[in-house]
Amino acid sequence: MSKKVLVTGGGGFIGSHLARYLHSQGNFVRIADVKFNDYIKEEYCDEKFKLDLRVWDNCLAATKDMDKVYNLAANMGGIGFITAVGAEVMHDNVLINTYMLEAARQNNVKRFLYTSSACIYPTYKQTSPDVTGLREEDAYPADPDNFYGWEKLFTEKLCEAYQRDKGMDIRVLRYHNIYGPEGTYKGGREKSPAALCRKVAESSNPGSITIWGDGKQSRSYCYIDDCVNGTITLMESNYDKPINIGSERLVTINELADIIIGISHKKITKEPDLSAPQGVRGRNADISLARKVLKWEPKVSLEDGLEKTYQWIAERCAVDQDNP
Ligand code: NAD
Repeated sequence: MSKKVLVTGGGGFIGSHLARYLHSQGNFVRIADVKFNDYIKEEYCDEKFKLDLRVWDNCLAATKDMDKVYNLAANMGGIGFITAVGAEVMHDNVLINTYMLEAARQNNVKRFLYTSSACIYPTYKQTSPDVTGLREEDAYPADPDNFYGWEKLFTEKLCEAYQRDKGMDIRVLRYHNIYGPEGTYKGGREKSPAALCRKVAESSNPGSITIWGDGKQSRSYCYIDDCVNGTITLMESNYDKPINIGSERLVTINELADIIIGISHKKITKEPDLSAPQGVRGRNADISLARKVLKWEPKVSLEDGLEKTYQWIAERCAVDQDNP
């Protein structure tokens, strides 16, 4: 590899892990974000640009002299956040993605990767907990469940237009629920694995935790190391259409919580909160295409990934308790 690489959103969860790996492989890594990951103590990049990428000039500055761009910056969060916030998410992300693509083109970036989401898939394919894995072609006719998903789908199309009209070399992946240590675990933007780890870590023993919805809604979860590996494999491949990066192991939220409770060795009961947002009823990934064209599939089991995630979040919660 050994290239000049920009990771936008490099201060966030996936971006910081990705930047750290690319840096460790000898690439020159610039990250651009409005904030940086304080949880990672070692140097994980060569340059840190503190930039608001909703601003055109900042996108031009970020992409200058870069060979490759991993465009991860986004205003986003877990189901609570993306259910509640629509206008801000669409406004900010359309600006970031539109300016980043055009700035990368003007600065002759050789390859551009965009991180889309499983949220682009239509609601009518996700009505049962016992759902069939979503394949890439299931995206249309479009009917995403939330505004965040609609913006992601718009940007996928924007990428397609830049490929066709401007000849840009672009990769698009659709992440399905990425989780792991050193990410958001509190504050309202955290996703279900991190939120459940925090609730279990903070619970008394014996105790109880709240589950959003009836807990029978289902999802699949992909560990961060597998995600980073899949992302770089796609960037280095010749495959230039949207592709799923995720796990095919479907679990209910109740099952996810039970695994985390087991890891904690605490005696904890689960209390459903039927008024809380829960998103689509069931969502799973079909990664046949990634297996075929990228020879990629996730390697870390949900139990092993959650063990690492829980231990990290439990340590953070202990630090938070000492420094309220
Ligand atoms: P994250 O929130 O941890 O990272 C996103 C980063 O973008 C944050 O550090 C944030 O500060 C930065 N950002 C937001 N607005 C910005 C702006 N105006 N200018 C510069 N930086 C800005 O989220 P993540 O989980 O690391 O997600 C990374 C990418 O992957 C996002 O595009 C997200 O939509 C996508 N994605 C993530 C998941 C997942 O499960 N985590 C699933 C599907 C898609």
